[in-house]
Amino acid sequence: MEKAWKLLSQDAKLSPENVKEPLKEIRRALLEADVSLPVVRRFMKRVEEKALGQEVIVGTTPQMALVKVVSDELTELMGSKGAKDLEPGFPQVVLMAGLQGVGKTTACGKLALYLRKQKKSVLMVATDVYRPAAIDQLVKLGKAIDVPVFELGTSVSPVEIAKRGIEEGRKLGVDAVIVDTAGRLQIDGDMMTELKDIKAAIKPTDTLLVVDAMTGQEAANLVKTFNDEVDISGAILTKMDGDSRGGAALSVREVSGKPIKFMGVGEKMDSLEQFFPERMASRILG
Ligand code: GDP
Repeated sequence: MEKAWKLLSQDAKLSPENVKEPLKEIRRALLEADVSLPVVRRFMKRVEEKALGQEVIVGTTPQMALVKVVSDELTELMGSKGAKDLEPGFPQVVLMAGLQGVGKTTACGKLALYLRKQKKSVLMVATDVYRPAAIDQLVKLGKAIDVPVFELGTSVSPVEIAKRGIEEGRKLGVDAVIVDTAGRLQIDGDMMTELKDIKAAIKPTDTLLVVDAMTGQEAANLVKTFNDEVDISGAILTKMDGDSRGGAALSVREVSGKPIKFMGVGEKMDSLEQFFPERMASRILG
């Protein structure tokens, strides 16, 4: 967005005339970053209203004033400052949802390790009965990070496995239970019904939608659909280390009202970071 600031003249005030070109440039930068058009429109409207209502404080430049407006709005768009990670509970029960291949199983392991680092004990539960390889993957991840995995193979229903997994977690007295679920290549009715049934059965403290940051504009639809169907508590954005342009990060909150809680920045188990909107905003501003 640097180009936008350069387009602003050194007038004493922000005016409809002098913000026009910079705002156009910001709009272009957002669309280029793969933010969905409706989100960009609403964002630009708010920035314009705020910028024009803004008195430029003595000693600052209109440029600084506009940067501040955009930075504040970007932060606001992605959630408020000082976000917390997971909802409390004993045990904390985290239901993980998402399409196949987005990094959901990897994210279960990463989250388990994140909690272990906080000295919490964790149990992971494998409910993807459609892909034995997914169960094996979780078991393998569990071994690597020394976190037990509850599984009942592929002949018991996902709801039953989830329920018994939580019971096992209570029996073991763990602080948190992370439930991995089956993903599909596309959103479909069966997947949503199964997720709803699992959710109703285990009443998780968090329902996290795992979203591949490379999804770009499609992320907006995806997040909205999942949130409407299963009422997520937040999202995990994965593959933020790739060459994604960040658009997904800007859409999640706007379309669902829910925060991004974590981001995945690599394939390794320790590459999960808490998501901080203000940091992401300054990254986008460049
Ligand atoms: P699932 O089908 O959603 O459970 O997806 P997986 O957890 O099996 O992950 C799919 C692929 O994405 C694997 O090759 C992971 O190593 C990779 N992956 C997951 N998260 C990240 C991430 O944050 N960054 C990168 N670069 N790769 C990731």
